[in-house]
Amino acid sequence: MIVELISVGTEILLGNIVNTNAAFLSEECAKLGLACYYQTVVGDNEERLTETLKTALSRADIVILGGGLGPTQDDLTKEVAAKVCNKPMHLDEASKKHIEDYFNSKGVKIAENNWKQAMIPEDSVVLENPNGTAPGVIIEYGEKRVVLLPGPPNELIPMFNDSVKPYLRKLLPGIILSKTVKVCGIGESSVEKQIEDLINAQTNPTIATYAKTGEVHLRVTASAEDEAAAKKLLKPVVKELKNRFGTYIYSTDENVTLEMSIADLLIANDLTISTVESCSGGLLAGRLINVPGVSETFKTGFVTYSNKAKRKLVGVKKSTLEKYGAVSTQVAKEMAEGMHDVSKADVVLSTTGIAGPDGGSEQKPVGLVYICCYVRGRMTVKEYHLHGNRAKIRETAVAQALVLLRSCLLEYFSENTFGKE
Ligand code: ATP
Ligand code: MG
Repeated sequence: MIVELISVGTEILLGNIVNTNAAFLSEECAKLGLACYYQTVVGDNEERLTETLKTALSRADIVILGGGLGPTQDDLTKEVAAKVCNKPMHLDEASKKHIEDYFNSKGVKIAENNWKQAMIPEDSVVLENPNGTAPGVIIEYGEKRVVLLPGPPNELIPMFNDSVKPYLRKLLPGIILSKTVKVCGIGESSVEKQIEDLINAQTNPTIATYAKTGEVHLRVTASAEDEAAAKKLLKPVVKELKNRFGTYIYSTDENVTLEMSIADLLIANDLTISTVESCSGGLLAGRLINVPGVSETFKTGFVTYSNKAKRKLVGVKKSTLEKYGAVSTQVAKEMAEGMHDVSKADVVLSTTGIAGPDGGSEQKPVGLVYICCYVRGRMTVKEYHLHGNRAKIRETAVAQALVLLRSCLLEYFSENTFGKE
């Protein structure tokens, strides 16, 4: 089945807001196995929206429109869609009641134009909106479906997940099931090379690789009559990927991030961690602290950006700074050691590097980063040459620090399990 997306809003055309709804909807539709050939952005203009919707209906089975369901004059998506589909509008009592309750619960007086949001085209399914006033709508237009969703992502996303997805699943013949295998510590091209034969031979399931900063996600997608059959198709392929990538795989759970998997490793093994950051300036601590429950393992994090802070807070020697410079293996090590002395954490990660755009030299170019990982007295320092602008270099440094941490932890565990007398 073919889906087409229309994002409605002059703000998007002007670049005032980024069209994150389209990115979200495209990805979700692909996961459902829907083919999407066109996406359009159109301003809040009746004539152009009418034309866009008509064109979309001429070439797609399902058209999803986002935005323009609000109460104001320029919100005209529903009115246009009703007209194009020849559906008169009527007042939907349940939506009216929802709007009343919503405003009452906030202690806000209802404006007259809010009732417009309770008007629903004939032959429609009304989608509840627990996060706002505008209900979503699915117009059943012959064999075609026109889905209208509110623009704010905090309304559109849950409405799509909770109401639209189950509705579309019922329309689709069979089901599509995916499993994501998340790999870190190997580059995308190397990952692709290692599964070239699988990719070349793929039909059902298919394998797609997605490069993320510091990681690669492999999405295996099967289509089948029912869930059990899809799972059966996925199983051997996922198993083969596990054979090929082994411990480079940090998770096969869609919802688990790299930092979550690392926090789990630390907590399960009763290890505490601290961070001391120069070029990454708190981003590393920030990523770890994104994990709910990390307080069981994360002790403290310092940002020692200046040389003075490196000396004062974590005891980096003046002579080391003078001899090797702040961006060096030696300083990364002394930062980690010093942090261990201060925090007594079992594990310490330190970062020091040149994020640019200034500050580089021939010997030490922008993007040069040293990361040290201390695990119970053992230190591993790695040198990186990262690319991109300042933000990208900092983001990559953090990802690499996590990848290094994970590999040091796995090494430590394997030695301590197999090496014990
Ligand atoms: P409202 O009742 O808030 O007016 P609406 O359904 O009419 O909702 P819009 O007026 O089009 O939606 O957009 C409201 C807000 O939602 C925008 O200001 C923007 O912050 C966000 N938004 C709209 N469309 C998108 C989009 N495609 N991607 C990301 N955010 C969006
Ligand atoms: Mg609006």
